[in-house]
Amino acid sequence: MQFSSIIGQQEVKAQLAELVHHNRLSHALLFLGKEGSGALPLALAFAQYLLCEKVTGRNNSAAAGPSLFGDPEPVPVATSLVTDACGVCPACQRANQLMHPDIHFSYPTVTKKPGEKPVAADFITEWREFIRLNSYGNLFDWIEMIKEKENSQGKITAKECDEIIKKLSLKSFEGDYKVLVMWMPEELDKEGNKLLKIIEEPPANTLFILVAENEELVLPTIVSRCQLIRIPALEIKDIEEALISRNHTDPAIARQVASVSDGNYREALQLVQHAEEDWQALLREWLNAILKTGPVAQTKWVEEISRLGREKQKQFLRYFNHLLEQAVLLRAMGHAPGAFGTEKDFAERLNKIAGIEQQQAIIEELDRASYYIERNANGKMLFHALTIKLYHIIQDKIVFLMD
Ligand SMILES: [Zn+2]
Repeated sequence: MQFSSIIGQQEVKAQLAELVHHNRLSHALLFLGKEGSGALPLALAFAQYLLCEKVTGRNNSAAAGPSLFGDPEPVPVATSLVTDACGVCPACQRANQLMHPDIHFSYPTVTKKPGEKPVAADFITEWREFIRLNSYGNLFDWIEMIKEKENSQGKITAKECDEIIKKLSLKSFEGDYKVLVMWMPEELDKEGNKLLKIIEEPPANTLFILVAENEELVLPTIVSRCQLIRIPALEIKDIEEALISRNHTDPAIARQVASVSDGNYREALQLVQHAEEDWQALLREWLNAILKTGPVAQTKWVEEISRLGREKQKQFLRYFNHLLEQAVLLRAMGHAPGAFGTEKDFAERLNKIAGIEQQQAIIEELDRASYYIERNANGKMLFHALTIKLYHIIQDKIVFLMD
């Protein structure tokens, strides 16, 4: 994977190339980026960049690139900075297929048989497929792909840590650098402490790239040993362009989806996939059940949404949030820049049934509900509780108006 095939993130790409160019690379990097920001593809592209023959100057001593870790007497640095891997040299070709012998991968795995201790290498075929099809995917997508039974938890096992230590103590095959890309070090548990020594004093020319979403869930002992590379959420315009060029999304839908996807390309893809879903109808039905038709209709609606599954439930809540935000903007500025099609009418109606404080309270409840859905809350109970909360929030306004 080359930098050029990664969505947006121009500053991070430039920063990484500069680090190499100026010999300021530490032996262990922590790429920290939220879901859908592209932290994993960036790490893969960076690994390829480090081994690309055009960048390292291999087979061309006159254009020799910089030493990775600031050797006392660096090889003369090429005058112009190479900003991307070439994509065609033998090293790039192997890296592209995730088959370079000096690029190792580590990621959470699931236990297939009781008592078995899985390691990443057992899942390498699936891993290559995952990166090819869904490099912006999250841990949930990966576990869905490899699990054999429900409620499988992804873990990076103690045995995997031993494997890493073993692999990295071997000499590199090609004579340059060895890179280990570890995805989701959040799933290491205390096993990760086995890796501290090798992260702190790695074998020569070895680079660790840890790719995490949530710094607080990574062992602090590991975080403190890493150079932090922050990967921001994607820009709206980058998501819009990517949807059109990579996913052949209709430009009007791409624009709409990009504006509500929170800089998360995975989310954007899912939203496009479900763009045909009629979230507005579902929302209208819910509000009617809450405000007019009462408990029987509410129960029926809750049954309906609890059949949809977590991903769609989250999208629905996000869509409601989006409409509420547009309603707030409409009230404050007289127009709703992110409202498309019939959304403006809907936002106007939301302004009639709830005041700004009620809308704020609803937004908070929806965010909280999304949080619990992500953590496997029971959908039926959650939407029942949410229905009652919304009823009270909106009723309060009505009571207030009558005073
Ligand atoms: Zn190359």
